[in-house]
Amino acid sequence: MFLPTTIEECKKLGWKSLDVILVSGDTYIDSSYIGISVIGKVLLKHGFRVGIIAQPDIKTNKDILRLGEPNLFWGVTSGSVDSLVTNYTASKKWRKKDDYTPGGVNDRRPDRAVIAYTNLIKRFSKDKKPIVIGGIEASLRRVAHYDFWSNKMRGSILFNSKADILVYGMGERAILEIAHNLKNGKSTDSIRGTCIKSREIIDYEYIELPSLDEVKKDKLKYIEMFHLFYQNNDALASKGLYQKHDSRYLIQNPPALYLDQEELDEIYGFDYENELHPYYRKEGKVKALDTIKYSISTHRGCYGACNFCAIAVHQGRTVRWRSEDSIVKEAERMASRKDFNGYIKDVGGATANMYGFECKKKLKLGSCKDKECIYPTICPSLKIDHSAQLNLLDNLRKINGVKKVFITSGLRYDMIIDDKKHGDRYLKNLVDNHVSGQLKIAPEHMVDSVLECMGKPHNDNLVNFKKKFNDLNRKSGQKQFLTYYLIAAHPGSTQKDMAVLKEFTSKELNINPEQVQIFTPTPSTYSTLMYYTELDPFTLKPIFVEKNLRGKEAQKNALIKKEYHNNSNHNKKKNPKESSNHKNRKKDNSRKRGSSKYNRKSDTFDKNVNKNVNKNINKKRRNKKR
Ligand code: SF4
Repeated sequence: MFLPTTIEECKKLGWKSLDVILVSGDTYIDSSYIGISVIGKVLLKHGFRVGIIAQPDIKTNKDILRLGEPNLFWGVTSGSVDSLVTNYTASKKWRKKDDYTPGGVNDRRPDRAVIAYTNLIKRFSKDKKPIVIGGIEASLRRVAHYDFWSNKMRGSILFNSKADILVYGMGERAILEIAHNLKNGKSTDSIRGTCIKSREIIDYEYIELPSLDEVKKDKLKYIEMFHLFYQNNDALASKGLYQKHDSRYLIQNPPALYLDQEELDEIYGFDYENELHPYYRKEGKVKALDTIKYSISTHRGCYGACNFCAIAVHQGRTVRWRSEDSIVKEAERMASRKDFNGYIKDVGGATANMYGFECKKKLKLGSCKDKECIYPTICPSLKIDHSAQLNLLDNLRKINGVKKVFITSGLRYDMIIDDKKHGDRYLKNLVDNHVSGQLKIAPEHMVDSVLECMGKPHNDNLVNFKKKFNDLNRKSGQKQFLTYYLIAAHPGSTQKDMAVLKEFTSKELNINPEQVQIFTPTPSTYSTLMYYTELDPFTLKPIFVEKNLRGKEAQKNALIKKEYHNNSNHNKKKNPKESSNHKNRKKDNSRKRGSSKYNRKSDTFDKNVNKNVNKNINKKRRNKKR
């Protein structure tokens, strides 16, 4: 069932008014992959009447008041991605295309969509019902953070948007509690998984973060703040936080408790249409639907904790997975659809092969604060075990009408190698049955010092894994290949490091890389912290950070150039570990999050370049917007 988007649809349902109106920067696809769709269905299941307004016009009230005013609250999200990431490339150029907009043209979502939509509601709504913000943009901007697009430290989006409550992380539990409390006239101040604004500290057991003023002035304070923030994201092992913003406080209540398997199964078992809502269909095709329509989410969370990724801060480091039964039923429903062509495009999550096992200690007491589960090496307490995913895939293949089940989510090949019992069988199974021409893996780089900045293990086994993959393909008579995701201009990466990586990809992997991304400093990641401070936050030693846009492009171009110039160094096989940068860094395998001394203050922003870029962005934005 679609949630209503017009008054006429409400009338058909016999609803005279709505309890909650959800507003999104994406169009409305009814799918378990879309946040507003999931949140809307959870509220509906518990008796609340919910409507959806997608991509409203922000200049008039014609869209935002289309459904009237809600009885309880407005819910606002930028959509599946931060609006500035959706709108701009890593080089701060306007993106022309948008996979979440009908017609595919990027002309609907305003920059800082959460703030823009909250302002829109405040401008036109007369009832002044509370505004609850959530989704990735609100979640990752919930405390003071560095904003790459303005090149500034910004305060919590809760203050900047003037909304009333911020829901962070996976929002099902928090949003339900907010709805119930507002309905029953109870306080919404201390709900887990939310942030609020307060004139005073509401719980003295909460941990104080360095204030907005302090982190704006002092990069070391920002590093201290970020460690505390990162360490208090676990549902079982975290405390609440508070941070002074001028004369008021941002209060972050402890994270929401994770949904158990039964609850996850229920959420993924709702009657999703897996289609674009008819109201928006007339505006054109939505590209994102091609991928998500025939894909299945098997789990949430990721313990990879790569420094450039915010999944740990948003979804958590504990993997929670659906039951095999629930996933098989979803595949059966998919197979019974008339337009299903027999191919399930993906069965996975943030990292596909994290399905079906977890560290027992973590499940009982929460994530360790002083070490990571699979970095720099795999923790012995995490018993890697691919057997549950193998069983699941076997059963999915047996479903009537299913010809192929692909895994297109990323995989951790180091985990496959580490699983001595099932790893080889898993890889063979992948090669025989689940690769759609190419298998995606993400070594990201090859130079050890850069990998250490990324929080990725050294890629010592990559060539070995490639050999195994190729051998299996040869034996099964298939011509499948590996696709490697690589990052240019990550903090710590120099032009020389990219030359070493190029040499490695040419000589050892025999490829001209195509999947190369320039690092984007998105809010609330360790890599962004490094980008801004130019310090390794774990050792406080200075690191090289490429901030010049031409320099970033040059790093990418060094890797994707088609012809490898056979210069004098080329034939001399370089050890990737011997980059110039690496010599200056001491390998620290027992990396602990936080704690050490500051060596040098460093501020080498290319201010003029950034100023000009921002000027260009604003100019372009004005021209491009409706
Ligand atoms: S014991 Fe190991 S696997 Fe378990 S939470 Fe700690 S670091 Fe992760």
